[in-house]
Amino acid sequence: MSGQLPAPTPDISPEAAPFWEGTARGELRLQRCGQCGTVVWYPRGLCPSCSSSGLEWFTATGSGRIYSFSVNRRGDGAFREASPFVLAYVELDEGPRVLTNIVGVDPDAVEIDLPVRAVFADTGAGTALLRFRPA
Ligand SMILES: [Zn+2]
Repeated sequence: MSGQLPAPTPDISPEAAPFWEGTARGELRLQRCGQCGTVVWYPRGLCPSCSSSGLEWFTATGSGRIYSFSVNRRGDGAFREASPFVLAYVELDEGPRVLTNIVGVDPDAVEIDLPVRAVFADTGAGTALLRFRPA
């Protein structure tokens, strides 16, 4: 089992503010294009598929599966104490793949296609980081 991962305070851009307001409330918020329906990750001002500015926020299920992962055994700085820890791409049920950490599991038990759900790591500064744990 990995140690407690540090939860550094994020830099919040105006485009991503609704996402961070969501994580602070325990919600995963994503954008969907009102023009073409594409679900967008990461938060931004224009749809990457059709360039529409009509992106609308919605609350996602928080469910997904591990698409790919790596076990980091040589973390740097504050992350050294938390090693080994899991860095992964999670494919959300809504489609996008999110670069994240998998927590609450022995890194050696992590595998491709493992169902996961979102959890929110409190930074202690009014924000929370999106991570995932086995569903
Ligand atoms: Zn679009």
